[in-house]
Amino acid sequence: MKDLRIPYKIYLEENEMPEAWYNVRADMKKKPAPLLNPGTLQPMRAEELGGVFCEELVQQELNDTDPYIPIPQEIRDFYRMYRPSPLVRAYCLEEKLQTPAHIYYKFEGNNTSGSHKLNSAIAQAYYAKEQGLKGVTTETGAGQWGTALSMACAYFGLDCKVFMVRVSYEQKPFRREVMRTYGASVTPSPSSTTAVGRKILEEHPGTTGSLGCAISEAVEAAVGTPGYRYVLGSVLNQVLLHQSVIGLETKAALDKYGIRPDVIIGCAGGGSNLGGLIAPFMGQKLRGEADPRIIAVEPVSCPSFTRGVYAYDFCDTGMVCPLAKMYTLGSDFIPAPNHAGGLRYHGMSPILSELYAQGLMEAVAVPQTAVFEAAEQFARVEGILPAPESAHAIKAAMDEALKCRETGEAKTIVFGLTGTGYFDLTAYEKFHDGKMDDYVPTDGELAQYRARLPQIG
Ligand SMILES: *Cc1c(COP(=O)(O)O)cnc(C)c1O
Repeated sequence: MKDLRIPYKIYLEENEMPEAWYNVRADMKKKPAPLLNPGTLQPMRAEELGGVFCEELVQQELNDTDPYIPIPQEIRDFYRMYRPSPLVRAYCLEEKLQTPAHIYYKFEGNNTSGSHKLNSAIAQAYYAKEQGLKGVTTETGAGQWGTALSMACAYFGLDCKVFMVRVSYEQKPFRREVMRTYGASVTPSPSSTTAVGRKILEEHPGTTGSLGCAISEAVEAAVGTPGYRYVLGSVLNQVLLHQSVIGLETKAALDKYGIRPDVIIGCAGGGSNLGGLIAPFMGQKLRGEADPRIIAVEPVSCPSFTRGVYAYDFCDTGMVCPLAKMYTLGSDFIPAPNHAGGLRYHGMSPILSELYAQGLMEAVAVPQTAVFEAAEQFARVEGILPAPESAHAIKAAMDEALKCRETGEAKTIVFGLTGTGYFDLTAYEKFHDGKMDDYVPTDGELAQYRARLPQIG
């Protein structure tokens, strides 16, 4: 039922944007496990991380104590170009579902990169510039992160080298051209430009690549080029910190109308949008001030939370990165070729992993055809063409809203709509042509990958 007191879109004023990011680790009694040096198995020290990452970002990565970290003015000025993002009341979806639930979504697709990833890209590029670096390297899968980073680097005049998973490089030429428009160089991975790329090509000729492999190449390129550092678009603590801007804005918008969420839902690839969206609400939960349910949504074909193990694992295929304790499927896990819906990373943010292990959040896995059905239903009533990743959250939010229809409860459901799907039309085409299936890895397959996890502790 339409409540005229609450508009379709709750906007904040520019001066209501957060001035500091919120660091949820400060409120966690048991902290996420530290990154380990793969050689010594000791926690990575700042000096060691500084060879790979920018100095200020290393400080943020290791900071378990400060609840608020000020957002530098230059970053806030850039945020002003596309933030605050709207919090939308999904009146039309509620009507369509005939649910008494109140559904809200925070829309992060209103910028050229088309996703929330720009929130961290601009921060990471800023700190690289401040340190006087020449450029940064990174990997990209579907291309959203590479696009966001190339935009950020163009803004600050930094060079940007992107290693793009070969299958995406070939299948998503338009993403590649956006990156090149913003001045980035884009190399298909695995490539012969790095030692690890050559090794992978030798062992697996004709491979179409993976995120884990592109990460190894990007790290090698950064470490081997003076004036360059590596940046990553998800998983790391620093990325969740930057993405807290999503949750802080969401909370500020809800607070304006005295709304308290009962359920908060987000899709989970490496965990950055979800970690950002839930941050201030999880803070309330940790401090005993509120108790919303928090649900991570992942694909059944890449089920890190629901079928993975909580263990130390490599973040990349080439095993050059530090070890992270996280829910993982094993660093050489690659989702089935028919998986088109994104969220393909084998591991999960150490912060979210620890919160999940403590029982402070839940996770569900959804099959991709149901995800695209939900995406289509949503597009038809709410207007926005969602990214397949975002549609995982839509699917779970719709399921919760339908439960409310059964019970008659008017719950408040908030979900993250992380981006738009204009570059994912090949996946939509597969869905429309009936060529999409719901591959679920068998226990036997998952056990094989698990058996290759490093044995630590
Ligand atoms: C990258 C991406 C995701 C998944 O990454 P997280 O780090 O888990 O947030 C989700 N939605 C969109 C649109 C993305 O581009």
